[in-house]
Amino acid sequence: LSAAPRRPIRELPDELVSQIAAGEVVERPASVVRELVDNALDAGSTEIAVKLVAGGIRAIVVEDDGHGIPSDELPMALKRHATSKIGSLVDLESVSTMGFRGEALAAISSVAEVSIASRTADGPHAQRLDARSGELAPFARGVGTSVEVRELFFNTPARRKFLKSEATELAHCVEAVRRHALTRPDVSFTVWHEGKLVQQWRRADHDGRMRDVLGEEFIEHSRAVSIDMGVLRIIGRAGTPESARARADQQYVYVNGRFVRDKLIAHGVRSAYEDVLHGGRQPCYALFIEIAPDRVDVNVHPTKIEVRFRESREVHQGVKRAVEAALAIPKATEFTPVAS
Ligand code: ADP
Ligand code: MG
Repeated sequence: LSAAPRRPIRELPDELVSQIAAGEVVERPASVVRELVDNALDAGSTEIAVKLVAGGIRAIVVEDDGHGIPSDELPMALKRHATSKIGSLVDLESVSTMGFRGEALAAISSVAEVSIASRTADGPHAQRLDARSGELAPFARGVGTSVEVRELFFNTPARRKFLKSEATELAHCVEAVRRHALTRPDVSFTVWHEGKLVQQWRRADHDGRMRDVLGEEFIEHSRAVSIDMGVLRIIGRAGTPESARARADQQYVYVNGRFVRDKLIAHGVRSAYEDVLHGGRQPCYALFIEIAPDRVDVNVHPTKIEVRFRESREVHQGVKRAVEAALAIPKATEFTPVAS
């Protein structure tokens, strides 16, 4: 084996740093959808529209009615490690927004053609910034932001090859919006594909949104989860053992409003079903965990899909107990409002 000749140490160019970082954050169109919807929610939006072309590969547009970005800050929005959401380590420890790393827009615009149009309440009109040319021009829209992402991975053909069919990518994009929709019933979401409305969730209360997102079937075959352990609060629904399925495709866990995939929580749920579920079948559940922000670290992974708990044993126990208690409830005793 011959080693490559040693090269001098050099700093990588900005664009390349962003492209490397993009490898972690942007895997497929659905990752872009996720980041853009995160941003729309952080801006206090009440209506979010996601418009896709070719499963999001050709284009993803996310339009919101949030507070917008002042036009003089538009170029900053695309810069790496530039954010309006935190300013210090103290802020980081109590962060309540979905974003805070200031990486997403920079990463996305290093692997796609991006433009942002935005208008604030006191701006005379909207301005649109083209990321590639840096050109800023007046644009017609109300207060809020539209981010357009075209030709994902156009400049990284190796990564573009990893994308699946348009139908598969579209399904992942819809799933990304579904994950947000489940935890934000106060926001209305629409998903469009090539001009056709493919998904719509109107504003609702928490139970109503669970019904709309997870379906009547799930509600019918699940029990309410509700436990309050002071620093840890868990609500949601757990599917009956009979409603378990072959695939783990209806398992939603949120920590302080953020969708997570966590082994510890999954194991806690699993052990609650231990005695009643057999043969590798997968339970369906939606769990919303609220925990004091200083007891959980969300800054573990760039996508923030992983979290770390200060008292992981307590969380594991809490989840297990909450689900066990729910499964012990016979259906008839569950409170259902009576129609008058
Ligand atoms: P982060 O969300 O971690 O701050 P991003 O790269 O996703 O980083 O966004 C950078 C900044 O651009 C945000 O901090 C925010 O100020 C602004 N921004 C992005 N999208 C929106 C939006 N839809 N509405 C308002 N501001 C936005
Ligand atoms: Mg963001």
